[in-house]
Amino acid sequence: MENFKKYINEISDFPKEGISFKDINPIYKEPKIWNELMLPLQKLVSTIKPDYIAGIESRGFIPATALAFKLEVGFIPIRKPNKLPGKVIGTNYKLEYGEDRLEIQQDSIEKDSKIIVIDDLLATGGTACAAGKLIREAGGKLIGYIFLVELTELHGRIKLDSELLIESLIKY
Ligand code: AMP
Repeated sequence: MENFKKYINEISDFPKEGISFKDINPIYKEPKIWNELMLPLQKLVSTIKPDYIAGIESRGFIPATALAFKLEVGFIPIRKPNKLPGKVIGTNYKLEYGEDRLEIQQDSIEKDSKIIVIDDLLATGGTACAAGKLIREAGGKLIGYIFLVELTELHGRIKLDSELLIESLIKY
């Protein structure tokens, strides 16, 4: 997985001072590279057979929807505030560079359906933790988390339920 790092640009002090932003867009621009990166995820998700893949707005939608479409698994969006229509459940959380809020549609999940969260990057873990909380509050059975990139020094995993599958492909 180390060889993918040449397709990840590191931008200092974006979006705030002190943050080294990992820009993975060059991977998406190269279909062969993107496909190579997604192959192990496809295998993993096919094995664990979730009922749904949940993706987190907005960068998380890219790998999550690509995988859901490819594997013919339903997709559930977890979005920023005031984007989803109807009744929603929301939660506030901290991220590496600030605070935010995520929401899920209250009736989007059948009780106890197995759901895996897929996001582009695990930093402090606040975003993924909030997404998991929403899935559980909406009645889903959270089965794990998959990330394309993990910033290991930020120990985001600690915030996540250690009994679940927590997988990341490219580690910094
Ligand atoms: P966190 O809640 O701190 O784990 O932050 C994870 C979310 O914020 C992911 O959805 C990323 O898209 C974004 N993010 C946080 N830190 C970075 C970073 N250093 N580079 C790129 N994206 C980041």
